[in-house]
Parts: sequence; structure tokens; C-alpha cells
Amino acid sequence: MNVHEYQAAEILARYGVPVNPGRVAESPEEASAVAAEYGGTVVVKAQVHTGGRGKAGGIKLAHSPEEARQAAAAILGMDISGHTVNKVLVAKGVAIAQEFYLGVVLDRPNRQVLVMASAEGGVDIEEVARERPDKIVQRRADPVLGFHPYLARELGFALGLPATQVNGFAAIAQQLYEAYMGEDATLVEVNPLILTEDGEWRAIDSKMSFDDNALFRHDESEQMRDFAEENLTELDARNSGISFVKLDGDIGCIVNGAGLAMATMDAVKQHGGEPANFLDVGGGASASQVAKAFSLVTADPNVKAILINIFGGITRGDVVADGIREALAEVEVSAPIVVRLSGTNADEGKDILAKAGLTAVDTMDEAAASVVAAAHSRAD
Ligand code: GDP
Ligand code: MN
Repeated sequence: MNVHEYQAAEILARYGVPVNPGRVAESPEEASAVAAEYGGTVVVKAQVHTGGRGKAGGIKLAHSPEEARQAAAAILGMDISGHTVNKVLVAKGVAIAQEFYLGVVLDRPNRQVLVMASAEGGVDIEEVARERPDKIVQRRADPVLGFHPYLARELGFALGLPATQVNGFAAIAQQLYEAYMGEDATLVEVNPLILTEDGEWRAIDSKMSFDDNALFRHDESEQMRDFAEENLTELDARNSGISFVKLDGDIGCIVNGAGLAMATMDAVKQHGGEPANFLDVGGGASASQVAKAFSLVTADPNVKAILINIFGGITRGDVVADGIREALAEVEVSAPIVVRLSGTNADEGKDILAKAGLTAVDTMDEAAASVVAAAHSRAD
């Protein structure tokens, strides 16, 4: 789950990070009132779950309440990479001397938490990583001992900071690490972290993403969820205990088991198709779960054919087949359906499916080939 910049800043402030003061506004008048209260220059910033707002015109400096009102009027309602702006953050303007990048991410291959920094801040860090990887410095936290202060200082020196600035920087690096661990985040990023002309550190753009599997122990972050920014189908799936991830292809997948669901997507791709989703109905695969899965998959207008891949194990094939039959009686599905059923009670399951007008094949390979052919014939 992602949150908005102003929410990430709110959390990071609790960990001591010197975030820039700001307030959210939902109308030009509110923006103007915040600007009047702060006085001087403010920056009006689009609050959407995507980066590159600056380049898209979603960030404007305003030197008076009237300018803040105009900036907010221009930004509210704007579309930034498919996200509609419903709120702006009005933050106190700061005079920037230097911009840095500082981020904490999970380094999966090394199974460690990685703290990264760059003196090339403010810009797209992925681009820096691609084109000038030497401009990014990094240190890994020890899984047991954590992120030692000396590692944070090493980062500061590696950035070429003067000795007088290293401790200030190192403190913020440690605070970001503490926030990452404390909030079960998957990403904490400040870009840019700046040095003001007075030599003060200030976080002027904060970003946080959270581990969905740990949200149950973070009510406060869960409360920050912005439904306008969520994929409604994914939310719906989550509430039904189905793992669903929307993808860009046209072959809907309904599978029992996460590993099998991954393998199914591979098989579809191997036969030249593109999966429209990852979907694991979970262990039980009852009629109501399968019906829900159908409705999730068919909610996507791109879906041209559906592949149901079931391996009967503890959940018997006939039970799942029953679920499919009952589900099809409940929800209308116009896309062609290919079923692969094998494992425990597969034959009984196939009999049930035959009565519902569906023929099941035995292997995943056959099923993938046939669903890709079905999708392609509909595409023409
Ligand atoms: P992003 O484009 O979505 O990453 O949004 P940021 O909040 O990072 O803003 C983009 C850029 O706008 C920053 O790198 C700064 O150069 C500039 N900016 C943001 N806030 C201020 C501010 O208070 N004062 C000044 N002078 N520039 C700012
Ligand atoms: Mn930024």
C-alpha cells in the first residue's frame, strides 16, 4: 500500500525527520488560507500516488495567497500519469542550496535492508541508477544488529559532504531506517533531501510504501489508505481472501495455489499469450470463491479468454468442479473458458464440468496453448 507525500511526511516527522511544514488543501480557497497563514513563499504540490509531479506541472511555487489560490486551481483536477489530483499540499517554501536523494529499500537478492544516497537528488533516481550508478552510494543494514551509526556516517562521507554536515545527514539516514523497520515499510524515500542556504537539512518530498501483509498491525497506516488511488478490483479481491494482481494482458487466470498461479502465467507467456491477472483462489475454492474469481476476472474489459488451472490436492477436483459449475450458474461469462483439471478426483471433476458444457484438459501446457489460441482468434 502507498500513501501520499503529506502522509509519509507525517509519519517520518514522528521519527524525528525534519520534514518541511505543510498542510493539505482540497480547494483553491483553502490553499490560499494556508499560504496566508504561513506568509512568504509556499509551494503547492499535487498529492497523487505517482512521481514526476514536478515535470508534469503538478508543483508550483507561489509568492502570495492569491498565487497559491491560482496554483491550486491549476493543479486540482489535473491528470498526472492517469491519477486525478484531488488534494494539494501547501508547504512552506525553502531556499534550496543542494538536493540529495536518500532512500531505504529491501534488497531482496541479498536479503538485507539497503540504505541508498546520492548527491544527484531531486531527479529521477532510477535514471541515475541506470546511467551513472557510481553516483549512488549504499550501505546494507545488518539483519540482527541493524543500521549502525558508523554506516550512516560512511554514507555521508561517500557523498562528499563536509565533516560539519555528516552528523546531520547520518541522523536522518538512521531515522529513515527506523521508520522503515517500525512501520513495516517496503520503501522509504526522501527525494530531495535538501540543504537549505542556511545549512539546515530538510526533507521536502517524502514517499512511503507498506508491506500489505503487515498492515494488520498498523491501523494508523491502514487509515491513510486513499481509495481513489486504489485498484478497486484488487481491494475487492483482498476483502474476499483472494490474491489478485491486475496485469496488462488479455488472458484471465483463475488458479488454486500461488505457485501454480505463477507457473500458469509462465505457461501462458511461453505460448505467446499475455496474462490479464495473477489470481490465487486460495485453498478452499468453494463455489462462492470461484464465483468471486469469475467476477474479478471478467470485470477487466481486456479479458478475451479465461484459463482455469486446478490441481486437486487436499482440495478435491470434484469439489472445485462443483464450484465452477455453481459459479457459472451465478455469473454470466461470455469469454471462452479453458479448464485444466488434474490430481485428486480429476475424473469425477471432469464429469461435473462436462455437464456444465466445459471440457477439461489434463496438462497445463495443453491448456495454455488452447487458451492463447482462443484469445488470439477473438482478437482478430
Ligand atoms: P516530484 O517531482 O514528484 O518528485 O516532486 P518534488 O516534491 O520532489 O518536487 C520536485 C522539485 O521541485 C524538487 O526537486 C525541487 O527542485 C522543487 N521544489 C519542491 N519544493 C520546493 C521548495 O519549497 N522550494 C523550491 N525552491 N523548490 C522546491
Ligand atoms: Mn521528488
